[in-house]
Amino acid sequence: MKFGPVQVDVVEDGRFGLDGGAMFGIIPRPLWLRSDPPDEANRIEMALRCLLIRYDDKVILIDNGMGELWNERQLEQFAVDRRRVPGLLANLQRLGVDRHEVTDMLLTHFHFDHNGGTVMADGSLTFPNAQHHGSAVNYALALDPSPKDAGSFRPQDRQGLVVGENLELHDGPWSFGPYLDMLISDGHTQGMNLPRLRAGGETLVYCADLVPTSSHLHLPWVMGYDCHPVTTIEEKTDLLAKAEAEQWIIVFEHDPEIDACRLVKDERGRYRRGEVIDLGGQARSWG
Ligand SMILES: [Zn+2]
Repeated sequence: MKFGPVQVDVVEDGRFGLDGGAMFGIIPRPLWLRSDPPDEANRIEMALRCLLIRYDDKVILIDNGMGELWNERQLEQFAVDRRRVPGLLANLQRLGVDRHEVTDMLLTHFHFDHNGGTVMADGSLTFPNAQHHGSAVNYALALDPSPKDAGSFRPQDRQGLVVGENLELHDGPWSFGPYLDMLISDGHTQGMNLPRLRAGGETLVYCADLVPTSSHLHLPWVMGYDCHPVTTIEEKTDLLAKAEAEQWIIVFEHDPEIDACRLVKDERGRYRRGEVIDLGGQARSWG
């Protein structure tokens, strides 16, 4: 989809599954069962929806999926499926983009399902010519995680990244080029960057794990994975109010059905999906 001079395309990295209970925290199973039906192992399907952003000579990726550094047992555990929905590099190729052409990699945070595609199966960098960008606070957490999220920050997903060389770390809100700036969210994990694109009269916000799916538009529907769930709710309240008032496009990294939507408020003041936006790029052949 074109936003003024900026071309935005969805590139997914297959699908995976996470425990439905963990995805919805304190929300009882009967409430999320209908909107997010689990499989026999109680996993709900999740997209790994990265964005490709192109303008001038820039070829930018936002997040890079969960990558290839997984053994058979883990692929089964996370229900990784790259047959029905192809992996990141295959989807980039469909758009005519070679991995060597990527100039910048904007990482929302250093959890494995967001930066796992940094490294190829042979241990080399997937995007060797890209400058990688991430949050300084979140990188420090990745190096010294709490027992709660140590499993999400995997050292092998960062091998080959050197701070000050191919990895630039940023403190607080920062901007990138003429169209992108980063909002900061601390509820899921400290220092998570939410890229916001303003171009062609539209504003898009890539919500990463603050609002991972459209089901999480309900304010109390917060992931059990979140380190600071009350902060998540406060941040969602603030972001969704602005997004609804100004009709921003909310992009969902993990929603299994839709790329993005605008918001409407129902009669009880709850945010709901409004206009569903198909950002394009991703082949839809799996139906
Ligand atoms: Zn995360």
